[in-house]
Amino acid sequence: MYWGVRGSVSVMSYSNEITWLRSLFQKHYSIHNLGLPYPASQREFGYGIEGKIDKRHVSVRDENEFNAFLRNTVPLYVSASVSEFMNPGIQPMEKKGLVGSDLIYEFDADDIDTSCKRVHDSWSCKSCGANGKGRVKKCTTCGKGTALDEWVCSECVSATKKQTFSLLSVLQNDFGFDEKSLFINFSGSKGYHVHVRSKNIFSLPKSARVELMDYLSMFEFDPALSGFSFDGKAYRCPKYARTSGHAKRLLDELLRLVESGTEDEWVIISGSSPRSIRSYLSDRVQWYKEIQSGYLPALPGKKTEAFWNNVLSHLVSVLRLPIDRQTSGDIYKLIRVPNTLHGSTGFRSDVISFSALSTYDPFVDAVAFSTLNERKLLVHHAPKLTIGGHTLEPVNEPTEMTLPCPLSVYLVGWGAATLR
Ligand SMILES: [Zn+2]
Ligand SMILES: [Zn+2]
Repeated sequence: MYWGVRGSVSVMSYSNEITWLRSLFQKHYSIHNLGLPYPASQREFGYGIEGKIDKRHVSVRDENEFNAFLRNTVPLYVSASVSEFMNPGIQPMEKKGLVGSDLIYEFDADDIDTSCKRVHDSWSCKSCGANGKGRVKKCTTCGKGTALDEWVCSECVSATKKQTFSLLSVLQNDFGFDEKSLFINFSGSKGYHVHVRSKNIFSLPKSARVELMDYLSMFEFDPALSGFSFDGKAYRCPKYARTSGHAKRLLDELLRLVESGTEDEWVIISGSSPRSIRSYLSDRVQWYKEIQSGYLPALPGKKTEAFWNNVLSHLVSVLRLPIDRQTSGDIYKLIRVPNTLHGSTGFRSDVISFSALSTYDPFVDAVAFSTLNERKLLVHHAPKLTIGGHTLEPVNEPTEMTLPCPLSVYLVGWGAATLR
């Protein structure tokens, strides 16, 4: 099947904002020929102009046809299947002829509680009119559900990198995937995607994929079954030199805490008083040695068991990767095509090398449009935003302004501004 959408798009009428965004996207796609990281003819594509995916079950013969589609149809969002099919364009799904599937992991700033959200996000209550800063889901005055005004910034997108790195480390160390089968890209909006593309996992059935997710997310991981156990007298832990997998990660995190965790951190994690913590931590070197040799240090009275239970369960919650079992195991899932533009931000969903990930900042690196071009807008509201080196100070009431293209595209895509 050919894309078959050319005619239908031209007769539809879109808002001025969508039409403007598409004119910019069209220019971008006519200058840049995108390379796909997989054979184009075996993937199912989906795209959206008003929504993220208005249409799916679309196929192309090759990369050239894919690029022609981007230039002719000019979608604001483009996704492709995580699976390869014999006939990706036909329906229903069962008739496509599944060949195999990548493993996909998505990390999203929405899932992490960062302090910046109390600066750039706000809430309001339609029932009683109360409002405030932060991602507050229930009105603090009347308890009803709130309407959220959510944004992302370099800080919260960057927080998803930590999880991306943890995942990459588990995939490499526990499963032996090498860099050649691991692909990272910016999602185009709020986080990062990791694609595992390898013969070893290509034909894994769904049940095995869910099992893999469970391992990675430490679903039902119990420290007691990995050698952390209190026998009534001593709290044992696995010997550092002989351990691997999650038990090793837990020990690493524990040793880091012993080495450099602040007293405040220990108070919160363990539930002990600041005074007790100060006395326990008076000899960190000794604690470090004891843990490495297979014992969690004993505490006065009967505190040992509860103290270490609290610490271990906190560390497990920190190490647990927020991987959604259902969507990550879904072989029919469509996910953003790397290097395409994202209609809510105007950012490129860049492919990122391992070495570039630590310094990658989408608010600088994913900017697709020239800062030399400007556009007059009515900005309804916005927090402080810096894109492509240009900063917009907070806008609290509708204000007419002329802004560089990357900021204009972002605000219009995000739904916070209209054209003037
Ligand atoms: Zn209220
Ligand atoms: Zn943020």
